[in-house]
Amino acid sequence: MKSFSKAYQRIGTENAFAVGPEIAARIKEGYDVTKLNIGEPSANIADTATEAAIKSFQNHETHYMPSGGTESLRIAISEYLKSTRGVAYHPDEIIMSPGAKGVIAGTMMILVDPGDEVIYPTPSYPIYESIASYIGAKLMPIEVKEEKGFRYDINDLKKAVSKKTKLLVINSPANPTGGVLEESDYIEIAKLAKKYDFYILADEIYSRLAYGKGVRMVIHKGNKLPVTHSILNQPGMAQRTILMDGFSKIYAMTGLRLGFAASKMKKFMADFLTFAINYWACLPAPCMAGAEAVLGKDQKDAQNEVKLYEEKRDVAVKMLNDIEGIKCHKPNGAFYLFPNVTGVCKRLKLKDSEALRKYLLTFDAKGKRGVAVLSRQHFGKKLTGEKEEYIRISFAGPKKDLVEGIRRIKEAVEK
Ligand code: PLP
Repeated sequence: MKSFSKAYQRIGTENAFAVGPEIAARIKEGYDVTKLNIGEPSANIADTATEAAIKSFQNHETHYMPSGGTESLRIAISEYLKSTRGVAYHPDEIIMSPGAKGVIAGTMMILVDPGDEVIYPTPSYPIYESIASYIGAKLMPIEVKEEKGFRYDINDLKKAVSKKTKLLVINSPANPTGGVLEESDYIEIAKLAKKYDFYILADEIYSRLAYGKGVRMVIHKGNKLPVTHSILNQPGMAQRTILMDGFSKIYAMTGLRLGFAASKMKKFMADFLTFAINYWACLPAPCMAGAEAVLGKDQKDAQNEVKLYEEKRDVAVKMLNDIEGIKCHKPNGAFYLFPNVTGVCKRLKLKDSEALRKYLLTFDAKGKRGVAVLSRQHFGKKLTGEKEEYIRISFAGPKKDLVEGIRRIKEAVEK
């Protein structure tokens, strides 16, 4: 038979999903697995969102909807972006996508030709590398460094950018490290973007999962909210940036697939609408009604979750740093920990963090217990010369699972 598309053979995947069946198989074999692998809030969605979605169904809103999203939702998002980013987007400058993820493929397919240089952080959310590779872009990963709180060194970025740079992907707060870019980073990025005339994809899906110093306080619906700094706060940057955000993380709406792109670039938004029409046509009205409901209500519940994340982060970091051979940086954003496990890998004579992940999943064969985490290998290709090993632990789930999971890691690596 004839060969499949060469481009498609280059596409990657998101191993957070790919390891799901492996975990399910162990559970089927009788293992009790504590799951710290998924970046998925365990909180339920707000009752007002459920009620709005049910009402939408009852009103028979089950037909095709406008491809960009309902106007009322886009107005609500526009108000939200004014409060949180300080940028006034017209509702037509906002387009819904089925999860924020869809914005990555859309942006790269619209902007990037084969051979164009795309710069993105590594380790990072693997879909940037996957889609850029599929398109045939020249991949330009820049390392985020543990000693810089998992930000990159701006000098590395300066070395990587050139006239050939088409797109810079920023993800702050970051998956898998929890790293948060600082205002000074954004000032430098803005200078480079102007000098070399590149576009920016700002993945700010975790912008409200912000802790500690360096956050900005904003007011939305009468509530004070901490948010991280954004490239959009830099003069002229809204004109060359595609903002990617959504409802999955802060509003615990992962399965409802509610993301959006916002940009001041008219031609880009016209092209993105065409992309939406080609790929998904529209989002379901009941989901959009739910999204509108959470933006319209006070933000107390969501902020309460953020407080709980911060508490869980503190407990988990302390527990991890008490384990021999583990060193865990305390992140200022998102709901992930990225402990350095180089010492553990050495002591247990494991090749790398992927081998450690596999070991942890079934560490207690007799008692049939395990703990699920992800490894460095799940977040983009390792750079040559990268020596340190890391695993990713999510603290998005219940505290008792987090505590039990880390206890198991301790038992597994110290026994
Ligand atoms: N961007 C980052 C950095 C993420 O970690 C995720 C989800 O894990 C996404 C985007 C995708 O979000 P969504 O579920 O809304 O597609």
